[in-house]
Amino acid sequence: MLNQEQPEIPKPLDQLTPEEITRKACIGKLMTHTLKNLTDTYINKGFQWLLPVVLSQSTDPLWPDPHLSIEKRIEFEIYGKPVRTTTSMIMHKLAATSTVYPKLFILSPNIRIEKAERAKTGRHIYEFTQLDFEMVNASSKDVFTLVEEALITLIKNLKQDLKPELTTLGRLNDLKVPNTPFKIYDRTDLETKYGVDNWEADLINDLKEPAWITNIPRQFYDFEDFKTGRWDNYDLLLPQFGEVLSGSKRENDYQKIIKKIERDQVKKENYMRIIEMAKDGRLKPTAGAGIGIERLVGWIAGVKHIAECQPFPRAPGNVNEL
Ligand code: ATP
Ligand code: ASP
Ligand code: MG
Repeated sequence: MLNQEQPEIPKPLDQLTPEEITRKACIGKLMTHTLKNLTDTYINKGFQWLLPVVLSQSTDPLWPDPHLSIEKRIEFEIYGKPVRTTTSMIMHKLAATSTVYPKLFILSPNIRIEKAERAKTGRHIYEFTQLDFEMVNASSKDVFTLVEEALITLIKNLKQDLKPELTTLGRLNDLKVPNTPFKIYDRTDLETKYGVDNWEADLINDLKEPAWITNIPRQFYDFEDFKTGRWDNYDLLLPQFGEVLSGSKRENDYQKIIKKIERDQVKKENYMRIIEMAKDGRLKPTAGAGIGIERLVGWIAGVKHIAECQPFPRAPGNVNEL
């Protein structure tokens, strides 16, 4: 996930040179068209568009975290109750798909106060947006097919509709429409080939096309087969860039959820709605994922730092007035 050269921290709007303003405006158009294109795809496939929330008692624990990457968790009290700023809307997606909205997506603002040193990856910002989607009775394969189709359509349309902008950014020829289906790698095979610590960075360098990685140990809400130890989850990696999406088939079995929450030493009291739904058999089998929008547009635009895709950059360790 590390960018090889250390990228410069993108500047606030009022400090941009005329050339940088031109570049920023081109990236802005890529962002607008990407949002329009992706939301159209999801709406056309029958997904409902939910508005996001930013304060909840329950948010993504982001734990276990192999990189120990979060510097600070934001929690405070309102109306006598503790709330946290949204790290991801995974819990809301599970409750919403199981009740009223069987296919949904949200453009969800996520706040993750990444360690300041992560500014140098060029792939982390402390406020970002996921196109977070979820569907009932879906498999990993269904998610792969949907995302591949969405990305192919997006890149084809951008190459057709935004030629001048992609030319200015030097990306018109380099940005290729990927071949489908994307390759699928099992994380254990990659560990054997590249080593346990290096597989992600090495694979990203070797990739020529986007690729799926499956079977990654992580949060309690991802499905784990207790018999085989295999996780039915996935990341999408982009060549020379890194991860742009994470998701999974979900865990909806009460006993397994409890076991995993206890194993991870996550606070059960923050997840009572989901636990209760699972206990009553009301948590449906779903699958979904979240696409990091600034990362996706950053890859398309060929930026060194994804904060370049933000009008108001949020690079770790850097707080601007706006
Ligand atoms: P990484 O390992 O790259 O730090 P992650 O696996 O911790 O990311 P997830 O929890 O999987 O991130 O978040 C879902 C998606 O949101 C990621 O695939 C990525 O596209 C995006 N994302 C996560 N963290 C950030 C961040 N700090 N800045 C920008 N986008 C992010
Ligand atoms: N959006 C992710 C998912 O759907 C959760 C995350 O943000 O890690 O699994
Ligand atoms: Mg991830």
